[in-house]
Amino acid sequence: MDEITRTVKYEADTDPHFAEEIAGIARGETLRACIQCGNCSGACPVSPYMDYTPRRIIAMTRAGFKREALSSTTIWLCASCYNCTVECPKQIRITDVMYALKQKAIKERLYPKRFPVAVLAREFSAAVRQFGRNSELWLIIYLYLKTNPFAMLKQSILGLRLFLQGRMGLKRERIPMGTGKKGDLQTIWNALDRADR
Ligand code: SF4
Ligand code: SF4
Repeated sequence: MDEITRTVKYEADTDPHFAEEIAGIARGETLRACIQCGNCSGACPVSPYMDYTPRRIIAMTRAGFKREALSSTTIWLCASCYNCTVECPKQIRITDVMYALKQKAIKERLYPKRFPVAVLAREFSAAVRQFGRNSELWLIIYLYLKTNPFAMLKQSILGLRLFLQGRMGLKRERIPMGTGKKGDLQTIWNALDRADR
């Protein structure tokens, strides 16, 4: 009984605008044409490891199951190989839908907590937004701190060796100041933010 209660979802719990929103980001207007044939799931090399197969993610997105789609591990396991997109008889841009879902999940902070790929993507983007460059060491430090701090201890010897050999530095990489590039970077981000609205 409990199991049944947990899996039942009522229409009132769904987001009626979710499919259009994701289709808009992914330029995937054909999303609604999905015939649930499962070709995408069959072609996907990582579907056995996903909590929902690509076919199910498309069905959930179309039905407005926003929370479930955004918090699934599927979208973070997607390797962007485009097999599904090539095999889809309805030319649905499934890979782009996966990207759109990732983007939305980061924005709404709905990704699986402590799932490294989601945190990595968010921290990478935050560093590039602020400094115009990514610094490997700082990215790794933030990734571990926000996912599994104890694992950082295990990697500390390797980190120290890389540091001593000059392969990793504490200095933050950033675009040169006073060259106008900071302004150019801001212009790019402003354009991306406008496109995202
Ligand atoms: S291959 Fe295309 S039509 Fe078939 S289930 Fe996947 S998304 Fe839908
Ligand atoms: S693009 Fe992603 S969802 Fe599609 S087949 Fe490749 S890994 Fe699977």
